[in-house]
Amino acid sequence: MNLTRASILKRLRPCSLTVLVLACAAASFPARVVAQEKPAHEQQARLPRVSEALQLDMQTERLVGEQARNPAEAVLRVPLRQQLLLDPQGRYRLETDSVYPGPIRFQFLELGLPEGISTVDLLKWRQGLAISRLPAAVARERWADHEFLVPAWLLQRLSAVRGEPAADGSLAFTDAAGRPARLALDGASGRVLWARSAGRRYEYSDYETLAGGLQQPRRISEQRGEAPAWVWQVQAVAAPNTKPAAYALPAGYSDAPADAAGLRATPLGGGSYRVDGLSSGYHSSFSIGSQGIAVFDAPVSPAEAASVRALIEQLAPGRKVSHVVLSHAHRDHIAGLPAYQADAPQVLVGPEARQALRRQLGSAWAAWDERVQELQGPHTLDLGDRRVQLWPLASRHASDMVVAYDSQSRALFQGDLFYIPELGPVPPAFATGQELLDLIQAQKLDPAWIVGVHGRSGTLAELRQALALRAQGIRQQGQGFGAP
Ligand SMILES: [Zn+2]
Repeated sequence: MNLTRASILKRLRPCSLTVLVLACAAASFPARVVAQEKPAHEQQARLPRVSEALQLDMQTERLVGEQARNPAEAVLRVPLRQQLLLDPQGRYRLETDSVYPGPIRFQFLELGLPEGISTVDLLKWRQGLAISRLPAAVARERWADHEFLVPAWLLQRLSAVRGEPAADGSLAFTDAAGRPARLALDGASGRVLWARSAGRRYEYSDYETLAGGLQQPRRISEQRGEAPAWVWQVQAVAAPNTKPAAYALPAGYSDAPADAAGLRATPLGGGSYRVDGLSSGYHSSFSIGSQGIAVFDAPVSPAEAASVRALIEQLAPGRKVSHVVLSHAHRDHIAGLPAYQADAPQVLVGPEARQALRRQLGSAWAAWDERVQELQGPHTLDLGDRRVQLWPLASRHASDMVVAYDSQSRALFQGDLFYIPELGPVPPAFATGQELLDLIQAQKLDPAWIVGVHGRSGTLAELRQALALRAQGIRQQGQGFGAP
């Protein structure tokens, strides 16, 4: 039911808007009902205090652009589970879990405390043992965002209301981060129908009454800007006995040392280089031959790829990039391609990847249409004094995967099949690691380096070690580490 302006005004006679708001707030906290006849300032003082932490088990399906296994699919539906412990003292503990694309799993723990946010990778592969940190102001905003998942808590902020409800019946308040916000109440039940703040809009439905009388929606639709809404299924329970350890990081993680060396091309030997120090944390690589230069992947934006292009210019002044090999057409691996337009290179991609590039490059596609070649089988690039072999690989992560091997530097270039974090030990591999090892064995390759787009470069021994850890995990847990 919508709270119309007429119904609000009807209820405003004879009492004030503030009284209406407090009465509605009280309706959501039936344990301690506010007496309507008291003056407003006294009622504010008697509003029930939120003192218990809540645990929210939440599920949704995210729509992720340009990350599907199949290049024909622009959007991938990714199931996301998260568990949020929200503490009224301004702390939260958020554990997220998602598996995509293919068998790759992400499991992160984010602790938001008044002094700031710390995030760690619970599976220790993408981020390894490194703690990523954000400042106190961000922690305050994220806590305030999370409070919109418990609309009954928002009602306590309505005491700051000034003036009339808006034409849509909504009431103004200031959220926990001090941002202007609005919410609308159902006139009959006093429950919050919707709220909005900081470009987000939340709609609440399927309410249940928790122990203690808290009214909590089981369905929350969260709209962020123009993006499609995330529809959360929420199971909430009071968590009054939360141990302090819930807000502590697990042992073994540490702050990553600052990368003081800055942007640089790290030699892999034999004329191949890997680019380190990009602000995104991604890597690109290249091999310089007497008759051409091949670049492997173009992450994550034209600006970053332009800085890679500038490094190549330093090492090979005046020479053109003759080939760009894209490991697969996921957005984060190809978005920098326009930075190579002046080189007019040939672009090598896996089967059916052209459509994904056309979609992502939009109006810039015309400049690339003639240059992008899909591989239908093994292919060799001739760079004069060196050759680079390419193999398409229909991976479970991306069906258009391409693996490259430069036999002069013995560097194997791959994207998203095998990861070793920058900081931390070799983690268990995903199923994609076996796909890579199968190819290395079938082609009798002898790589000195397995070079990735994420994390540090590894060796063949480390790939085998990661696969042994994966097998061990499957034996111990009865299920694959991130296995589909
Ligand atoms: Zn990918």
